[in-house]
Amino acid sequence: MKKQTYYNSLLIGLLINVSFILIFVNSLQASLIKSTRWRYIVIHHSGTKIGNLKIFDNYHRSRGMKNGVAYHFVINNGTAGRGNGQIEVTSRWKRQIHGGHCRQNWVNRTGIGICLVGNFDKTYPKRNQIRSLVSLIKLLRKRYFIPISNIQGHGHLNGEKTNCPGKNFPIKEVKKMLISAEEKSLSIN
Ligand SMILES: [Zn+2]
Repeated sequence: MKKQTYYNSLLIGLLINVSFILIFVNSLQASLIKSTRWRYIVIHHSGTKIGNLKIFDNYHRSRGMKNGVAYHFVINNGTAGRGNGQIEVTSRWKRQIHGGHCRQNWVNRTGIGICLVGNFDKTYPKRNQIRSLVSLIKLLRKRYFIPISNIQGHGHLNGEKTNCPGKNFPIKEVKKMLISAEEKSLSIN
């Protein structure tokens, strides 16, 4: 009897988890509006230990950004009431407008800005954040045909003088994960 209750609770937990992921992926796919403007994906860190979309939105508005948070997506690290690896979609993405995450306007106009919460000069991104980042980039690349060479950390872009997304951000590994995911899907087909 006890065993049965245990299995039941496991099953219920699994169902809740799976349905949460399904709902999230569906809503994200629905928000991937057709567009030809997105040519780059620019990865940032928040430079802060804690944070979430709402906190950055308030901060950027207080600094005079009338469109709010500068990024299109935020990937949380389990602080400020959000899940570790939870992806938040910002109003800039929902409205399909330019970002405010780079110094140069051409990047803001053509680049999808993704911010991972954390300071990767001091710590490393969480494994769940990297998993979510790779899944998100896979979806975006499929929709907008963005080449791997156009996926860059903020400071790696010509003309952007910054350390963002931090010296510990594993950009090479992220690209490797994207390429190997692509090879896998090719071999299945
Ligand atoms: Zn940045």
